[in-house]
Amino acid sequence: MITRIILEELKKPFQIKGHEIVTTASIGIVSSLAEYTSAEEVLRDADIAMYRAKVLGKDCIEVFSPDLHDQVFLRLALENELRHALENREFELYYQPIYSLVTDQIAGFEALIRWNHPTRGLLLPNEFLPIAEETGLILPIGQWVLYEACSQLSRWREMDPALRNLSINVNTSPRQLKQPDFVEQVIETLVETGLSADALKLEITESMVMDNPVIINELFHRLYHLGVQLQVDDFGTGYSSLSYLQHFSFHSIKIDRSFIQEMDRPGRKSDLVRTMVQMAHDLGMNAIAEGVETEEQRAELKRLTCQYAQGFLLAKPMDRTAAERCLELEMDLVPGHFD
Ligand code: C2E
Ligand code: CA
Ligand code: CA
Repeated sequence: MITRIILEELKKPFQIKGHEIVTTASIGIVSSLAEYTSAEEVLRDADIAMYRAKVLGKDCIEVFSPDLHDQVFLRLALENELRHALENREFELYYQPIYSLVTDQIAGFEALIRWNHPTRGLLLPNEFLPIAEETGLILPIGQWVLYEACSQLSRWREMDPALRNLSINVNTSPRQLKQPDFVEQVIETLVETGLSADALKLEITESMVMDNPVIINELFHRLYHLGVQLQVDDFGTGYSSLSYLQHFSFHSIKIDRSFIQEMDRPGRKSDLVRTMVQMAHDLGMNAIAEGVETEEQRAELKRLTCQYAQGFLLAKPMDRTAAERCLELEMDLVPGHFD
């Protein structure tokens, strides 16, 4: 195809003032002109296809289809709306309890963001966080999540001695961690919300650690001295090399749901999970099982001495009021304690 030849030609290195330059292109194509009445319309759709080609990874060719038109416009609309969501107070944190498998009590919560969209309903993170990450909007959103989660937990901890040891897990995104003043933001948030540093646990994905060892190393030192814990999120899904675990001495690993779900399938064994828990212990870390959905999984995790569990079997993520009801029940507080 002619477009492939164009791409190949454009990929060839060329010289500018003695420097070798390598570049790639993205091409959008409109394959039939029957529907169109003006050149502008053709260009607009070719542009949409090119935009899609860029998103798919540069050096791509994409042919326009009406479907694509809808997809791109939905994305553009969401991006636009996302820009106003913070000021319009449309974000909300849900809280999913993390249980101790030793005491069977709630040890803390993971804060999970939701978007109460005025027309599209309640949106889950995977419907908008990729756009937020791509556009950089994740920075103010991430800051809001951190502040909101810390101030909520601080309030709960002050309400009753039974809640004084609760902790909060906050997810972090790659872009957030790369900000030079990230640690300052954490310190400021802790001071402003009055939350003790050891109650905050930051979740970082394995791939973030592997891709940015220098940044993570620096972060580690500073957060460690502050007393904030770092946990590996989605453990086991990222990379084969485990040497980073020794190097960075994380506080905990969160074993990814996919491994927990294999545990009680017929013919499957829990060997992998056992090995992960054992390894965590050998390296002085805690293990938290994610996505626990069955009684069998919980019993097996207890047997394997995994310390913490989180999942739909125990509790789903819930809004603040539901989380307070849950705390009342689980912590034997008088009903209406939070009202
Ligand atoms: P994650 O950090 O792995 O969070 C756990 C996800 O698994 C949550 O989805 C939760 O609702 C879901 N989950 C919990 N227990 C179970 C279970 O037993 N079974 C199943 N099938 N799922 C379970 P959610 O809330 O849709 O969040 C998706 C992802 O979005 C999170 O995955 C996290 O990576 C990201 N995320 C959520 N909130 C934030 C945030 O505030 N900041 C950043 N950077 N990322 C966030
Ligand atoms: Ca997480
Ligand atoms: Ca996870």
